[in-house]
Amino acid sequence: MDGLMMNYPLTLVHLLERVNQLFGKVEVVSRLPDRSIHRYTYADFYRRARQLAKALQQAGIQRGDRVATLMWNHYRHLEAYFGIPACGAVTHTLNLRLHPNEIGYIANHAGDRILIVDDVLLPLFERFKNHARFERVLVVPHSATAGGYENYEDFIVRGEGAFDYPRLEENEAAAMCYTSGTTGKPKGVLYSHRALVLHSFAFALPDAFAVGQKDVLMALAPMFHANSHGIPYVGVMLGAKLVLPGPHVDGESLLELFQSQQVTVTTAVPTVWLMILEGLEKDPGRWRLAPKLRGLVGGSAPPESMIRGLDRHGVRILHLWGMTETTPAATVSRLKSYMRELSIEQKYAVRCRQGWPLPFVEIRAMGIQGEVPWDGETVGELQVRGPWVAASYYNMPEESRRWTEDGWFCTGDVCTIDSEGFMKIVDRTKDMIKSGGEWISSVDLESALMDHPAVRQAAVIAVPHPKWDERPLAVIVCKDGEKLDENDLCSYLGQKFSKWQLPDAFVFVNELPHTSTGKLLKSALREQYKGWKWAEGGRV
Ligand code: AMP
Repeated sequence: MDGLMMNYPLTLVHLLERVNQLFGKVEVVSRLPDRSIHRYTYADFYRRARQLAKALQQAGIQRGDRVATLMWNHYRHLEAYFGIPACGAVTHTLNLRLHPNEIGYIANHAGDRILIVDDVLLPLFERFKNHARFERVLVVPHSATAGGYENYEDFIVRGEGAFDYPRLEENEAAAMCYTSGTTGKPKGVLYSHRALVLHSFAFALPDAFAVGQKDVLMALAPMFHANSHGIPYVGVMLGAKLVLPGPHVDGESLLELFQSQQVTVTTAVPTVWLMILEGLEKDPGRWRLAPKLRGLVGGSAPPESMIRGLDRHGVRILHLWGMTETTPAATVSRLKSYMRELSIEQKYAVRCRQGWPLPFVEIRAMGIQGEVPWDGETVGELQVRGPWVAASYYNMPEESRRWTEDGWFCTGDVCTIDSEGFMKIVDRTKDMIKSGGEWISSVDLESALMDHPAVRQAAVIAVPHPKWDERPLAVIVCKDGEKLDENDLCSYLGQKFSKWQLPDAFVFVNELPHTSTGKLLKSALREQYKGWKWAEGGRV
């Protein structure tokens, strides 16, 4: 027998309406590219997001069409987060850190029809516009000029007046984000309204990140990478004050905003938290942060010293694990009620694990023989499933092997799970380097290096880095009689990769280690170079 409850769709439209109805007075504060502070309320946000929705509809945008953004974190990006799905279309956030050719590829693959771009990012757009096929480009004017393009403000003015939402189903797509989180081509993750809403609910739970209307949330992680960890949706769902830092994400600028806005919750990758910690240590007593500031960390494993350091400054760090494919939060490391008696050392050890799954997320670790026991020792590949876990990539049937026949997503992370359900990431099967929260494909670098006429073999490995978590190190075997140096290879790679993606060091050797089947033995190289001392500076 079915329950006799209403079939009410879980959509972002409801959140948009609700925030205006109940929390219209609450502020959204943005730091703009010129460092000025912009403030408006959720009522303003609501009006403008609807104007955008209507203007898009009038411009011929249909249900399911993709509208791309190339923007920093600020209020107009928030309008795109809600205005685009409110008319039934899909907000596709383009990652401005990628190489222009890659952005062009992604925009084409996604079939983006319209682009909304910050004027300060037009030079980047100019570098890939010939590869992409946008029908219209709307420029967000921060510094008055739209450089010959259509102005976003003029565009949304056309959407003034009443607007009737299309009747959306909760499983319709609302947002899209490409991940380069494994080898091969970037892959599109297509979030449904329902997934974004349920993720926001779980995120706000007291046993997850315990967020409420009285919190001040900062969307610090880029809005072009895994939806800024979901913070913009959570903020609007709860009607909590939202702070958006724009492009200014150095330690000092962030601490200033934490202080002036009394931020109580934010999420960032360890690299950013390390910068914040450095700022706090440099000038103890200078910053008056909110007494209960909770910092969520994910994206790569945070060092215990960082968690301890931030604790000393009153910033309570909560560790989460997630992926673009999991919207992103999937696990959180919190002590359980009966763990109060653990020693301080034990508590830190627990907090360094990636934690247990949020409600409705399931995890398992799979070994060659099947699921491994939850004993905290046996290692297996982490697999997940749940209502905010991707069921496939957008238009990439060749990647279907990432899902098991019984419906689990293979993350490419290697983990243990202990008897309490605490998961710990111990390695990655994917040959990727995670630098400051962004991926660099070692395989792409290797193929490019091997294309060099003087290179016989090349291996690129991730080596731990004190600031960026990991940086690429290239190990090169030259062809007989050939001689190369770092500058030759950097200028060669520079034609295809952004500067920050280039290896920070090149080592020239006579041969590379291989497995019995002739595969490059990267684990041996990782072992050999794990204590590598990076030179000061670097390319980032
Ligand atoms: P992305 O899709 O770019 O957000 O990257 C997801 C990947 O980041 C995961 O598959 C992990 O390899 C890594 N990752 C995310 N959170 C953590 C964490 N807390 N500890 C270690 N690795 C993490």
